Amino acid sequence: MTSLTELKLTDAVAGLKSRTFSSREITQAFLDAIDTSNPHLNAYVVVTHDKALAMADAADARLAKGKKLGRLEGAPLGIKDLFCTAGVRTTACSNILGEFTPTYESTVTANLWDAGAVMLGKLNMDEFAMGSSNETSRFGPPTSPWRRKGDNRPLTAGGSSGGSATAVAADLCLAATASDTGGSIRQPAAFAGLVGIKPTYGRASRYGMVAFASSLDQAGPLAKTVRDSALMLEVMCSPDPRDSTSIRSPVPAWTKAPGKSIKGMTIGVPKEYRVDGMPAEIESLWEKGVEWLRAAGARIVEVSLPHTKYALPAYYIVAPAEASSNLARYDGMRYGARKSTDGGLTDTYETTRAAGFGLEVQRRLLIGTYVLSAGYYDAYYLRAQKVRARILADFDAAFQSVDALLTPTTPTAAFAYGERSGDPVAMYLNDIFTVTANLSGLPAISVPAGVDADGLPLGLQVIGKPLDEDACFKVGAVIEESAGFNARPDRWW
Ligand code: GLN
Repeated sequence: MTSLTELKLTDAVAGLKSRTFSSREITQAFLDAIDTSNPHLNAYVVVTHDKALAMADAADARLAKGKKLGRLEGAPLGIKDLFCTAGVRTTACSNILGEFTPTYESTVTANLWDAGAVMLGKLNMDEFAMGSSNETSRFGPPTSPWRRKGDNRPLTAGGSSGGSATAVAADLCLAATASDTGGSIRQPAAFAGLVGIKPTYGRASRYGMVAFASSLDQAGPLAKTVRDSALMLEVMCSPDPRDSTSIRSPVPAWTKAPGKSIKGMTIGVPKEYRVDGMPAEIESLWEKGVEWLRAAGARIVEVSLPHTKYALPAYYIVAPAEASSNLARYDGMRYGARKSTDGGLTDTYETTRAAGFGLEVQRRLLIGTYVLSAGYYDAYYLRAQKVRARILADFDAAFQSVDALLTPTTPTAAFAYGERSGDPVAMYLNDIFTVTANLSGLPAISVPAGVDADGLPLGLQVIGKPLDEDACFKVGAVIEESAGFNARPDRWW
């Protein structure tokens, strides 16, 4: 029998409902696994033992009555450290937030608890979600459960939601929340053999999420299967008057999408995503993906998204610009840590920010402030916004003739620590296939589709039309089914 911690979310929810096991049992099993594994994997930065058991007992009481059960009743989850959780330290893995403990709950996590889910703790991430490997976390990076064949070097589970990916892949929670500004749900999903979806911008409320770049940030889940990710996303999303960019329309029944036929759908393959230097393995996996979708009855056409090559430069202007504005609030006066000096107020601001922000965050704040400054605004920020409009127009044009797009999720498999960290541009290149969906607000899912020669997972991405997460789930489920991905990391930890 599979142990409780290895269950898929959907199966665990069914097992809890039929009372095959209790929420306390499965929660305790996860807490034990975390206590044993976390010293090796560093996925959790806070473990909420007491809260988890109290929530589990409350869920068990509701399950015993069998009335008014939530969609995730009794299911233990991990929460990325940028969702504010009332009474539980939330720092976005930055020193500048010190021991900040919110008095309020993010809408996304509140929706999960309202559905009966249990919180196991807070998950590691890149500082303020800026990064692709978690090497910028104040707590040090998590270690992916995956390793290259015959090579013991620790690998990244991706970023910025690397703690979430590590925890789900190592069976330290049933599923986890994550967030995606330029790929931070989908790239870790690809690196860790998981499913991750970023919904259409505005589907998930940003209320109570630590802001990075507000016009790009979206919450979504990391999970083991397409079905699990649909269930998570359905519960996480909601129209929210507390987020002015929230979409005021009801959340569709996404859980009904996986398994539906894709016969008659037209899937576009964007030719500009065939980038120089892409490993042959990724190219052939993409080819396989095309074959799977064709075999399932879809029509495949090549499409052109001509402004793709400007997406990464535009992202690395827009995201830092918004970050420099959002992170101005960390001045040592209102939140978290303060480094007082005798030099007066301005000096305290400066010393606090110099001590509290890590080097990558400082780099982004400098870039962001520069591109917004008088004299440079038009040359950089405004031009990046114009590129953004062109990228959206490219997608609009493609979606006149196709229902969804198929691309690789990342240009490589997971890399080892230190392999990219010396060169910011090499690190930024990770995001080449993912940032376009953020710049255009489109929904996009990553589904594990195979392994490379080293035995590491690779993902394929499906980008849908605005509000058409359904297409992502339908096509994603076909890829999942056809790939039959069942690789698991060897248990070395
Ligand atoms: N890797 C990208 C960055 O560093 C994306 C991060 C994210 O999506 N939060 O900005």
